Formats: sequence, C-alpha cells, structure tokens
Amino acid sequence: MNEIILVKNGELALKGLNRRNFEDMLIKNMRHRLDGLGTFDFSSQQSTVVVTPHDDVTDMDEAFARLCRVFGIAGLSRAASVEKDINIILRSTAEYLDERILSARTFKVNAKRSDKTFPLASPEICTQVGGYILSRYKHLSVDVHNPDLIITVEIRDHAAYIHGNQVKGAGGMPVGSSGRAALLISGGIDSPVAGYMMAKRGLQLTGIHFASPPYTSARAEQKVHKLLQKVAAYSGRIVLFTVPFTEIQEQIKDNCPEDLFTLIMRRMMMRISQIIAADQNCGALITGESVGQVASQTMPAIACTQAVCSIPVFRPLIGMDKDEVVTISRKIDTFDISILPYEDCCTVFTPKHPRTKPTVEMVEKAEKVLDIDALIERAVKGIKMKVIHAYRTDGEDDYE
Ligand code: ATP
Ligand code: MG
Repeated sequence: MNEIILVKNGELALKGLNRRNFEDMLIKNMRHRLDGLGTFDFSSQQSTVVVTPHDDVTDMDEAFARLCRVFGIAGLSRAASVEKDINIILRSTAEYLDERILSARTFKVNAKRSDKTFPLASPEICTQVGGYILSRYKHLSVDVHNPDLIITVEIRDHAAYIHGNQVKGAGGMPVGSSGRAALLISGGIDSPVAGYMMAKRGLQLTGIHFASPPYTSARAEQKVHKLLQKVAAYSGRIVLFTVPFTEIQEQIKDNCPEDLFTLIMRRMMMRISQIIAADQNCGALITGESVGQVASQTMPAIACTQAVCSIPVFRPLIGMDKDEVVTISRKIDTFDISILPYEDCCTVFTPKHPRTKPTVEMVEKAEKVLDIDALIERAVKGIKMKVIHAYRTDGEDDYE
C-alpha cells in the first residue's frame, strides 16, 4: 500500500481553453513547494492531480501541509493507492483508515469507478466496503446524510484509491496565472495579509520594503523577511527589494510641513515602487491600506497617494475592519510576527497632527522644495535584493 495525495483543482476547472495552462502552472507550483521533501510524480486525470512520492521515507505530513497552502486547489486528501482487487481494497480500507474509523460514530461509503473494466459497479463497491467495515467495527453505524466519516473508493486506470474526508484547499487561482505585482510590505499586520489575498487571485509577488536605518533597526528588516517567509508559503518564493529611505525621510522632515509628512513619504514610496515594478515586470502595486484606518488612509489622503501612480494599485483590505484582517493574519501565521515591537519607518516620523483632508495641490506645493528626482535616483542606487523562500532559511549572504 502506497500513500499518495489527491488534489482537486479549484476555480481553474472553469477556465475552458486555459485549463491546460492553469493546470501546468498549478503542478509547477506544487513541485516548487514540495522542494526538499524528495521527488514526486504528478499526473493529472479528470480535474484531479495525483501526487505520488518516489520513496517510502517521504514526510507526508509535511508534504500535505505544504500543499494545503497552494492556491488553485479546491480540496485535497491523502489516500492509499492499492491494487484493483476487491479483497485487497476491503482489507486496505480498514487498515489505512483504522484510526479515523475508530474515532467516528457514523460513516458512509462513496465509490467512483472510472475504470469500467473493474468487475463491480459503484453501488456494489459501496455495499461490499460498507458491509466489511460494519462487520469489523461494531461501534459504527451508517448515516448517509451527515456522517462523521466519508470513505471514498475510486477505481482509476492504474490503481484503486482509498481515502477519508477531503480537506478544503487554499482556493483561489494558481500563483502566476494572473501575472506579477509588487507588494509594499511594512512590518505591520496589514501588508502581509494584502499580499496573501492577491497571491490567492493568481498574482506572483515581488516585495518592496522601505527601511530607514539607523532609525529602523536590522531587526525590523528581519521581521519583514520573516513575514514574507510566511506569505511565501502561499505565494511561492518572493524577491524582496529593500530601499534605503533615510535620506528621503530626513529631507521631508527638515523641509516640508509636518502635517503632510506621511503623505509626501507615501508618494515617494509609490514613485520608487513604480520604478521597481517596471523593472521587474509587475503590472500593479499592492498595499495594505484600508479606508479610514489612519490619517494617511482617508479618502482624500488616498487620492493624494494615488495621484502619483500610473499603474493600478490593488488595496485588497480597503473595505475590511481591523479584526477581519487580524483573523486572516492569524490564519496565515503572520500575526505574532507583525506585533513584534520593532519600529517602522513610518512610526519614526509620524507627525503629531496629520492632515486628514489634504488636497493634491496642497501636497504638490509642499513637496516642491525637494529635489525629488535626485532623491529617488540615490535611493534606487542603494536598493538591495534578497530572495525569500518559504521553507528554506538562507543566510544573509544573498544580498546583491
Ligand atoms: P501595515 O500594517 O501594512 O503596516 P498600516 O495600517 O500600518 O499597514 P501604514 O503604515 O499607513 O498602514 O501603511 C499603509 C501601507 O503602505 C502598508 O500597508 C504598506 O503596503 C505600505 N507601507 C507602509 N510602510 C511601508 C514600508 N516601510 N515599506 C513598504 N511599504 C510600506
Ligand atoms: Mg504600518
């Protein structure tokens, strides 16, 4: 008896002619995500991808957990792959699902026979498996409407697959199927969640972080790396660009009206991010903004930030309450990292009384004193790059 993982495609089942491409992309993403756990075979049959490990020592718990975070998957189950012989199927069902049968009180059996040469039809398979299980587990009864355990037996071309309840997949679309976008990531709660949400819609992520040493510490940067590592469990590897922002912030602080600090800073971030986006083939920017959350996120403030952008800015949290964002951040395991206290470049220069109803003219006038082009040029020259993997912790040495 070999253990395999059955992966049911999600939304991509609906995509008609694109289906093949989507499926290839999904398989490629799964392959990457299982990196380091051994070799696997991927074969796709009728909106199911069968993932078979090559060797017996594969950590299937880890493989399954990783695949649960791959977008484009509606549901997945671990299954026993056995010979297509009803006696073997009966014995293997009891053996493979023993623990789960013991902890269930009610069950039902589903059978699917795509290999029509198998001598028993689906209802007969159900009867035989159901009878066998009932005869061996006296505590169990059948409940076809709301069973604790659904035992599924699938008779496919190469083998019979036996599995218990299917687990819900991460949903969404395969990362890469919608192109690439640049995530502006701070150390806060919101931006990692925003990245997760857009990766779910099939976007590959490039990370951009603005750091202001010595006002912000190396630990604040490491926090961003850790956050992206968690996001990468869903989005796949992320190339992070860290932009030196100290000079820009100091110039703003020394020369611009205090109530507009944050907005002018945001506009500088957007300008620089678009340069990186163009270079990295990103079709949009992603931020963690949400209307009204802070002074720089009122509608007039967002209009000022937006005014310097010529590519779309995706703000997936725009209509969400903080507690809704927190729920997702806990789910994707970024919350505990986000609340670590290391200072962010925004916190360091936060004005006491930020303007909540700025106008574009007001901000444009206020930033005229800056040599914007020269500041951007110097910041871009100092950009560092780092590749963030979900399951590999490389040292700091891959900075370029
Ligand atoms: P977050 O929790 O993501 O920090 P926030 O609610 O604290 O968001 P702001 O600090 O106003 O909001 O930032 C709004 C958005 O601007 C962030 O979600 C992020 O996308 C971007 N941003 C803020 N600071 C940085 C930074 N240092 N580097 C990159 N992007 C940033
Ligand atoms: Mg923040």
